[in-house]
Amino acid sequence: MSTLSTENAVKLVCTNKECAKDFIVIAQEVAFYQQKKLPLPDHCPACRHRQRMALRSERQLYKRICDKCKKQMISVYPQEAPYLVYCTNCFWENIE
Ligand SMILES: [Zn+2]
Ligand SMILES: [Zn+2]
Repeated sequence: MSTLSTENAVKLVCTNKECAKDFIVIAQEVAFYQQKKLPLPDHCPACRHRQRMALRSERQLYKRICDKCKKQMISVYPQEAPYLVYCTNCFWENIE
């Protein structure tokens, strides 16, 4: 028998329109958010996980060589990525 009370659990709907799933925030979690004075999450755990992963990969930056002028620069792609990556200067030159 479970002693876990679901009385104060909150049922929310994920605000991600492509997902829009119902999810439950259990009483302990609700208490945690209230204690930290944080708003209740508006995304289901799966979407939150995806967002965290997306954020992490955006923050990852690599030093690499511009494929045109061979200057060193900072890019979101590592040197071994199979893309041509240009520095800002070469990028804008290429658009002309
Ligand atoms: Zn979701
Ligand atoms: Zn360049």
